[in-house]
Amino acid sequence: MNSILDILIIGAGPIGLACGIEAQKNGLDYLIVEKGALVNSLYHYPLFMTFFSTADRLEIGNIPFMCLAPKPGRQEALEYYRSVARNKELNINLYEKVEEVNKQNDGIFSVVTSKKIYRAKNVIVATGFYDIPIYMNVPGEDLPKVHHYYKEAHPYVGQKVLIIGANNSAVDAALEIWRKGGEPTMLIRGSEIGERVKYWVKPDIENRIKEGSVKAYFKSQLLEIKEDAIVLKDADGNIVTLENDFVLAMTGYRPNFDMLKKFGIHLNEADDFVPSYNDDTMETNVDGLFLAGVVCGGMNTHKWFIENSRVHAEKILKRILEKKG
Ligand code: FAD
Repeated sequence: MNSILDILIIGAGPIGLACGIEAQKNGLDYLIVEKGALVNSLYHYPLFMTFFSTADRLEIGNIPFMCLAPKPGRQEALEYYRSVARNKELNINLYEKVEEVNKQNDGIFSVVTSKKIYRAKNVIVATGFYDIPIYMNVPGEDLPKVHHYYKEAHPYVGQKVLIIGANNSAVDAALEIWRKGGEPTMLIRGSEIGERVKYWVKPDIENRIKEGSVKAYFKSQLLEIKEDAIVLKDADGNIVTLENDFVLAMTGYRPNFDMLKKFGIHLNEADDFVPSYNDDTMETNVDGLFLAGVVCGGMNTHKWFIENSRVHAEKILKRILEKKG
């Protein structure tokens, strides 16, 4: 039988790492288990994205995040979190997926992964929200030309690209694709560009739309995606068919609710699937099972981000140390 860990942390995103640092600082026996690469979500972000936060607000474990511009890009963030993990010599198992968390009669959690079974007194779920796209459920969404993640503009040069959404991801993709020689058209449910779009980017997209460089259909609805076209209903109720090569559905992502339920965590389905946890301690309805990071927000994935959820690590460790006495 394995020895019993004080804490098993699921997910090596920025917040899972912050929890690992806090556990290490307090001399606890911990392990971070990550199903992909280190900071796997950030690794899958668009290649040339810029964070809306300044570097200091993305720091964890009081380790300075040095970068030339005030706001880092993906490469610098990867460099930073790599160096944090290396310098702190964090205990991390990569490419190992947690599949089950079961509390046993002796109060110890049995954590089943794709590779082995661990025993832990406490478990922190820091699994983020970036793995599951929010689907539009329109005919043709399963065509290979439809993507829910955007990486870079190059594949879209000379192509007619429909971009669904009005928030940062959609706006960044539309501007980049237009600047590299693609033909982006935005399809937007509401009447304007999202209010959370980065303040230095918003005027850019609004002006590109005004001048017609980026086409936009506001108050519109996508009806169907075909091999070489898309069909939409515009603000006046007209059915419009547009030639189309690619669709980028930047419709957001959501936490893995099935997994949380399977772990025994209650979800408030009437309130955007927000999981049940104590704000002060981050402990869920299951004693010893904690939530940290963006996973806490249910469907409100904009509520928590690195900047404001770094503190979860300290709250959780405080509670664990109190219980340990
Ligand atoms: P994640 O970083 O998503 O990490 C979760 C980890 O858990 C992943 O590595 C995942 O692979 C792993 N995992 C999931 N399931 C399992 C499993 N079953 N077993 C093992 N591992 C698992 N926030 C800011 O504060 N400032 C910004 O400027 C900013 N810009 C952003 C720009 C973009 C384009 C996006 C998409 C997000 C941005 N955010 C920003 C949000 C921020 O990146 C997230 O809030 C942050 O990644 C949350 O960290 P996390 O550790 O909670 O989750």
